[in-house]
Amino acid sequence: MTTSRPFSACVTYYDPNALPVAAAQEIVRQWAMPRGTAGRVERVSLYEALGRVLAEDVISPIDVPAFDNSAMDGYAFKSAALNAARDAVELNVAGIALAGRPFSAEPNAAQCVRIMTGALIPPGCDTVVPQELVTRADDVIRFPSTVVSEGQNRRLAGEDLARGKAALQAGRIVRASDLGLLASLGIAEVAVRKRLVVAFFSTGDELRSVGEPLAPGSLYDSNRYTLFAMLRRLDVETVDLGIVRDDRASLEKALREAAQAADVVISSGGVSVGDADFTRELMNSLGDVAFWKIAMRPGRPLAFGRLWSGPRAGTGESALFFGLPGNPVAVMATFYFIVREALLAMSGAARQPLIEIRATCAEPIKKRAGRTEFQRGIASRRADGQWSVVTTGPQGSGVLSSMSRANCFIVLEHDRGNLETGDSVDIVPFDGLV
Ligand code: AMP
Ligand code: MG
Repeated sequence: MTTSRPFSACVTYYDPNALPVAAAQEIVRQWAMPRGTAGRVERVSLYEALGRVLAEDVISPIDVPAFDNSAMDGYAFKSAALNAARDAVELNVAGIALAGRPFSAEPNAAQCVRIMTGALIPPGCDTVVPQELVTRADDVIRFPSTVVSEGQNRRLAGEDLARGKAALQAGRIVRASDLGLLASLGIAEVAVRKRLVVAFFSTGDELRSVGEPLAPGSLYDSNRYTLFAMLRRLDVETVDLGIVRDDRASLEKALREAAQAADVVISSGGVSVGDADFTRELMNSLGDVAFWKIAMRPGRPLAFGRLWSGPRAGTGESALFFGLPGNPVAVMATFYFIVREALLAMSGAARQPLIEIRATCAEPIKKRAGRTEFQRGIASRRADGQWSVVTTGPQGSGVLSSMSRANCFIVLEHDRGNLETGDSVDIVPFDGLV
């Protein structure tokens, strides 16, 4: 895929040394277009469809429910009996309809049919009176004519899903309820988009892999594991390219391999001021990459653009590229607030905004105006039903334990300054219900 040079055009309106988060998100959104479906669709069975993106609308082949049925345990009858009655309706029980065992004769105006939830409404009947509202003596029931009105307690054929209508739309990420819904339509297979392929690696001479001894001044590479986990949760295919040393040849090899193998390449480290000159030169020759300082904490330095696998930009295969900062918390914050939406869009998924909840600060929070901060918070529900939040303490972008202890991000908007106890904030819970 080739694209005209993006960033020269996009970034001119902003200062790349203090790009507001919203502007960065908007630019990324413009460049992370869904890939075409040609050659990128596969049919999978229901179990395999969980978490995948539907490639096309699923049209309901049947009505759900398939027939008019009772919503209650009670008695089915013709509503004309309601009008005919003065105060009480009196009907003879002509038989019984059970779920899966219909009563097939048509009762007359003075008759009713004992019916259980889900059973087919007998011919000519249109109303069900719940059993707890009637008195029964032998085969005669009585109930006040006001307790039920025409058509009540009946589920109509096609009420949930009408035959020929889209039951689920293309772009939907299939969830638990959707699997059940597809099964209720008798659908055994669906067309889903092939998974997006995302390659990732860490950069840094100081990094060691788990299992290796730690030399003085070295540290274990944690970013690859966090990235792997976050990518898995998005159900993309991952290619782990390991640790790349801070030298031109290794980095060039990794970037070109990654652009060849993947739709999106994510690296961590090597984009801050000290390292940027070296990487900038390389990335400019291999692609069209802009270096941003986002007005965001954590996550200030970030590189974004397009890379090619060939010896020069515009040659070979291309991939979208995110060069994330090295600090472990910054990796997570930039992933969730900058990268995530791009990966979903490229996967063909409909937009899924992160859920934000209003909470009250239970303590003052230090915040500098002029940047968006994503502090790590612990939110809890107060007795009055409101959410209340405190920070996890020190907010250094290397303190990964702050992410493990937190259950939400506290999103502090660009223009906001210090916060007092009792102020309202937005939080983004780590756990979504799916
Ligand atoms: P850099 O952006 O490369 O200057 O890295 C910033 C900080 O993050 C440095 O203290 C690095 O040691 C640390 N860091 C970079 N990459 C990783 C990684 N993969 N795992 C853990 N820490 C890292
Ligand atoms: Mg580094």
